[in-house]
Amino acid sequence: MLVNNLSVFKILNYKRAALLFAFCASLIIGSNFLLLGSYSRVYGIAGHSISTAIFLTLVFYICAKLRTIYSIYALIYVIIIIPTYLLSTSLQFTGYDYKTFAKIVTDGNMASLIFAALFTVISITISNIANSYLRVFAASINALLVTLLFIHFIMVTAYAFNYGSGPSGAAITALFQTNIIEAYEFVISQGMLGYVACFIILICSPIVFLSAFYINSRIINTQQLSYISTVILIIIGCAVLYNLNLRVTYNSYFAAIQTWIQQKDFKEAVAARANMLDNLNLSDHICEDGLFVVVIGESLTRDHMSVYGYERNTTPWQSSQKNNKNFILFEKPYSSSVTTTASLSLALTSASLKDQATKSASEVPSIVEIANAYGFETTWISNQSRFGFAEVPQTIIANASDNQFWLNKNDNDYGWRTESFDEVVISSLGKALSSEANKKLVIIHLMGQHGNYNHRYPNSFSKWPGNDSDYDNSILYNDFVLKLIYDAVSKDESFKAMVYFSDHGEELGVGHTPDSFTYTMARIPFWISVSDIFAQDNEDVIKAMRSNIDRPFTNDFLFDIVCGLTKMTSNPFYRSGFDVTSKYFDIKPEDVMILNTYKALDDPNY
Ligand SMILES: [Zn+2]
Repeated sequence: MLVNNLSVFKILNYKRAALLFAFCASLIIGSNFLLLGSYSRVYGIAGHSISTAIFLTLVFYICAKLRTIYSIYALIYVIIIIPTYLLSTSLQFTGYDYKTFAKIVTDGNMASLIFAALFTVISITISNIANSYLRVFAASINALLVTLLFIHFIMVTAYAFNYGSGPSGAAITALFQTNIIEAYEFVISQGMLGYVACFIILICSPIVFLSAFYINSRIINTQQLSYISTVILIIIGCAVLYNLNLRVTYNSYFAAIQTWIQQKDFKEAVAARANMLDNLNLSDHICEDGLFVVVIGESLTRDHMSVYGYERNTTPWQSSQKNNKNFILFEKPYSSSVTTTASLSLALTSASLKDQATKSASEVPSIVEIANAYGFETTWISNQSRFGFAEVPQTIIANASDNQFWLNKNDNDYGWRTESFDEVVISSLGKALSSEANKKLVIIHLMGQHGNYNHRYPNSFSKWPGNDSDYDNSILYNDFVLKLIYDAVSKDESFKAMVYFSDHGEELGVGHTPDSFTYTMARIPFWISVSDIFAQDNEDVIKAMRSNIDRPFTNDFLFDIVCGLTKMTSNPFYRSGFDVTSKYFDIKPEDVMILNTYKALDDPNY
């Protein structure tokens, strides 16, 4: 028995093992050097590097006689390492020092070396499967996984080309919440790069798929790697991986999953919030009656609005409203986030940027839920798509409305084009206004300035020529749509107030993403226009709004602002300190933050 065990050491070729270990160690240090661009900390975390080198030595020792293994290994490693590196580089912008950065990059690199080794070992083992059906099945699954890595690689690389870093959690979340039309428009807006990426995914994926099987079954044919040694290698590989700091390297994905869970919670807590509001008996409480309208804009930065000082006359109607004594244009509004869902899930609920992490989904009613509880008839009119790949919070909030008008027909057929300009909302608005209810809240969600900008306005609004002017032309049209809405609602004798704001801004040529944040992405318009009757009855509100007109605030306070205007203030969720229509508004300029990271006071245009 002992002799048998000792014979293992006899067949062990120490010289070969030592050479392989030296090769693996230099592979790790060499690739670390290429990724870090520096000799400093090129060995990474010593314990991690040694365990990775030992694992790789074991893999190559067992498979050493197969020359093909090295080319397969190199191919898979190249596919895996680039996104890992790009994801790691995105961390450079988040304030990590070099020491931490080097740890993350080297650990990410070693994870890629191990993943590639495991894929290689599994590929070779699959080619040993005797049953041809089973072999085809296993090889297909394996090829599919490699293809997914490949798509991931293209996605991250295309993103990094555009934004200079790998995608953050917020960007990945936004990507999964876009529907097919938006994804298509995104590809178009990327120009050649988008087409090339699609071509590669569509054409190369099947080739990768087929070649993986071909390689498995024809080129490699060996019994050298037994099932038992494969299982052992997978266990050891996973143990080494477990030690690496992957949580940081793949942080974006963890963050995206976390957001998804929060949003799922918000949907699941619908009944809990309804119960809670029922118990408060808010329908007995007094609030303002009449017609209130909230218009949600999309991707509009005030930097391109003449009413905020832009040189082109993009907002003639809003500029003319500055003479209207009941029209209050806030001078320094910002968005709390720079993506639609992140921003609207705070604006439309009692959650705010500061407290969102500490509040559960059952504690933050939406503006629609609270208005329903006070006895308002609520109407939601949207020219945006109802569903992304997943149901987004704004859709869940809209679903609580008494009346809903989903005007974007692409909901059902996932067609390629948005077929209606925003003025399509007017006819549904007419239906909402014809209702007999004495308390009405109408929320209108426009497609606004969402890319592609030239899809957002009819030809008659192409006032300025050239592709660079599409955005400005779309703002000119948006101004016209706002006038149509205002004309329709202000004629209604029950009209009290109209609020307009944008979910976030837009940086031309970049778009809106937390990964390449600029203040232009957060500088939004925010105005409130009230009726003469409302102004007469609420002199204190007008006075408060005028005194707060030049104070900065973020659009996550929309909930409190609408509660303030409608006098739905007797509930425990309303905070007068967040309400710019209240004399108790008390947010200090130095406390106004965007994405919990950027201070409004640091805005160069503040
Ligand atoms: Zn948006």
